[in-house]
Amino acid sequence: MSTTPVFDPPQRILMGPGPSGAHPRVVRAMTAPLLGHLDPDFLRIMDECQAMLRQVMRTENAITFATPGTGTSGMEAAVMNLVAPGDRVVCGICGYFGERIAQMAERAGGEVTRVQAPWGSPVDPDAVRAAVREAGNVKLVTMVHAETSTGVQTPVEPISAIAKENGALLLVDCVTSLGGVPVEPDAWGADAVYSGTQKCLSAPPGVAPITVSPSGWEAMTSRETPSNTWYLDMQLLAAYWGEGRVYHHTAPISMVYALHQALALVLEEGLEARWARHERNGRALQAGLEAMGLALHADEGYRLPVLTTVRIPEGVNDGEVRGALLKRYGIEAGGGLGDLKGKVWRVGLMGESSTPGNVLLFLSSLGRLLREQGFAADLRAGTEAAAGMLGDAG
Ligand SMILES: *Cc1c(COP(=O)(O)O)cnc(C)c1O
Repeated sequence: MSTTPVFDPPQRILMGPGPSGAHPRVVRAMTAPLLGHLDPDFLRIMDECQAMLRQVMRTENAITFATPGTGTSGMEAAVMNLVAPGDRVVCGICGYFGERIAQMAERAGGEVTRVQAPWGSPVDPDAVRAAVREAGNVKLVTMVHAETSTGVQTPVEPISAIAKENGALLLVDCVTSLGGVPVEPDAWGADAVYSGTQKCLSAPPGVAPITVSPSGWEAMTSRETPSNTWYLDMQLLAAYWGEGRVYHHTAPISMVYALHQALALVLEEGLEARWARHERNGRALQAGLEAMGLALHADEGYRLPVLTTVRIPEGVNDGEVRGALLKRYGIEAGGGLGDLKGKVWRVGLMGESSTPGNVLLFLSSLGRLLREQGFAADLRAGTEAAAGMLGDAG
């Protein structure tokens, strides 16, 4: 007798570095009937996605669409299309994702200079300026707005000014910031900005919003050799998303539906209101963790509200605590990456997961488990500090 495997994923509260929980409307959109990717009704949905992306990304860039694939596809599209062999690139790095960009730029044939910051601090603009001057004739400066490996937000304006002063383009990774903290490619003067769907946009992973400035587009279209990627060639992708609808790949139909509804939900909530919600819940969680007796890892003043890194106290077992959070309370939290493995937990409050209830649930669940591990977490002080900051927000 043969039996088919049982498909029954449990319900979780997703408070790690992504994916975040998806809104029921987004999940329902994905179960809508499939359309052909050149069906007029699907083309209308693509057009609406582009228009909503421009609103959510606060840009007027003509080149604004979504690449097929997770956030990394947006990164690869931006880097591979901008960097040609021999181009000089300065990469600001303060964590895992900044380094990923540098590696891609090297694969594209770029001459890369890394400007490193300690994992927990933002990239230092003075160090970027020095590196750009030293290298000379730099084509591209790269940075990560919200470094999900460390919980650090690096301000974009100072680095943008340095790129402009030196005639270089600016690439900004906004995978974790879009929909959670202000992302302003036009106001920043950024030339390539990309994101993902499963962080603060609260859709499943699968497509990557991307926008390119007129100068960035000029650089992508005037290079002497075509970029080293066919699937993520921005000119081919633009021809598919543009008027001509030149076949390039079969759009991931259900993911485009999901993106459509996720963007509609952002606009219905309002960008400012959404940023304020993420800010309030994130600061309440951070105050609660500190009041409980824990130390936050990221430098004060540069802490992301949407992703908090908290140090694991001496003598506490990382795996046991995260395992019990998942098994007993249904909560997923993230462990440390790279240098921070075993040293911090990463707690996400992104999109649908950013709620006052989740803040209090997380603090009380973690506090309880820490006490079992012999760390005297002050549960009451933690939850009261957070609840006080949450007020009657709902
Ligand atoms: C998650 C993330 C990525 C990669 O996105 P995937 O969807 O995992 O491919 C890139 N950059 C940052 C800052 C991220 O947080």
